[in-house]
Amino acid sequence: MNVEERVPLARMTTIGTGGPARWLGRPQTLAELEELLRWASSEGFPVTTVGLGSNLLAADEGVDGLVLRLEGELAAASVKGEILTAGGGAANAVCLHRARSGGLGGFEFACAIPGTAGGGVRMNAGAYGGDWKTVVARALVSSPDGSAWFDVDELGLEYRRSGLDAHQVVAAVEFGLAPRPPDEIKAHVRELNAQRKAAQPVNRRTFGSVFKNPDHELSAGRVLEAVGLKGHRIGGAQISPRHANFIENADEARTADALALMAEARRRAHEEFGVELEHEVAFVGPIELPTL
Ligand SMILES: Cc1cc2nc3c(=O)[nH]c(=O)nc-3n(C[C@H](O)[C@H](O)[C@H](O)COP(=O)(O)OP(=O)(O)OC[C@H]3O[C@@H](n4cnc5c(N)ncnc54)[C@H](O)[C@@H]3O)c2cc1C
Repeated sequence: MNVEERVPLARMTTIGTGGPARWLGRPQTLAELEELLRWASSEGFPVTTVGLGSNLLAADEGVDGLVLRLEGELAAASVKGEILTAGGGAANAVCLHRARSGGLGGFEFACAIPGTAGGGVRMNAGAYGGDWKTVVARALVSSPDGSAWFDVDELGLEYRRSGLDAHQVVAAVEFGLAPRPPDEIKAHVRELNAQRKAAQPVNRRTFGSVFKNPDHELSAGRVLEAVGLKGHRIGGAQISPRHANFIENADEARTADALALMAEARRRAHEEFGVELEHEVAFVGPIELPTL
C-alpha cells in the first residue's frame, strides 16, 4: 500500500494551515483508489478527500485517518464530442483549458474557482450564475463497496452542498457542454477574471467564501462589513480588508485563529442582524464552532 505518514495538511490547503494527516494516499488510478478505500475501511480509518484545499480548514491537531489526493489519470481531463470527462482531482483550470481547446463552452463561470472537478461536485461550486449542477451530467463515486455512476439528480446538488457523504470520493466527472468558439471563451474568461480581481482579495492566502449567503437582504460579506469586521485580526488571521467574507492568512496563521474569527463573526451577525451564518468552508479533523 503506497501511503505516506504524517504529512502536513498546511501544504495542501490554500489558506496554508492545518496539522498532519496520519496517512496520505495519492492514488493514480481507479483501482488504486478502490484499494485504498478498502484498506481504510478494514482498518477503521475515516477517509477525507482533498482537492486543491481551496475551501478547506484543517484542524491544527491534524486528521487521524486517511487523506486522499487524486493524481495521475484521476486528475486528467479530455474532451469527446460535447462531453468533458475529468478525473475527480483534475484542476478546474485544466478542465477549462481542455474545454476551450475542444471548442466547448459553459464552464467559463469556473475560471476563478481554484478547485477540482471532484471538489466542485462536493461543494456544488458556482459563480456568476453558473454552478456544477448546471453542467454536470454524471459523476463516478467510489466508496469501500466499489464505484458507481450517479447522475446529476442522484448527486443532490444544492446551494454549495451535495448529498454525498464524507467517505464518498468523486473519482470522475462528466460535464455536458455546448460548442463555443475558443476566442469567445477566452474573451468571456478575461472579463470574468477582471470582475473578480476588482472585488476580491485574489493575491492573498484564503479559502474562498467563509460563510454561505444567508436568507437575508444582505450577503454574508455585507453583514460582516456592517458589523465592523473588515480588517479585524486574531493571531495571524484577518478578515480581508477587501471583502469581509474572506479570511486571509496574514502572518503564520493557525486554524485556531481563523476559527476564532469565524466565531466572532457569527456572534456579531447574530446579535446585530439576528442572522445565523452557516459556514461554507469544509472542516477536516476535530473542529467545531461554538453554538450561538
Ligand atoms: C480565491 C478563492 C476564490 C473562490 N471562489 C469561489 C467561487 O466563486 N465559488 C465557489 O463555489 N467556491 C469558490 N472558492 C472555494 C473553492 O474553490 C470551491 O469550493 C472548490 O470547489 C473547492 O474545490 P477543492 O477541490 O479545492 O476542494 P477542497 O477545498 O479540497 O475540499 C472541499 C470539500 O470537498 C471535498 N472533496 C474534495 N475533493 C473531493 C473529491 N474528489 N471527492 C469527494 N469529496 C471531495 C473535501 O473533502 C471537502 O469536504 C474559492 C476559493 C478561493 C481560495
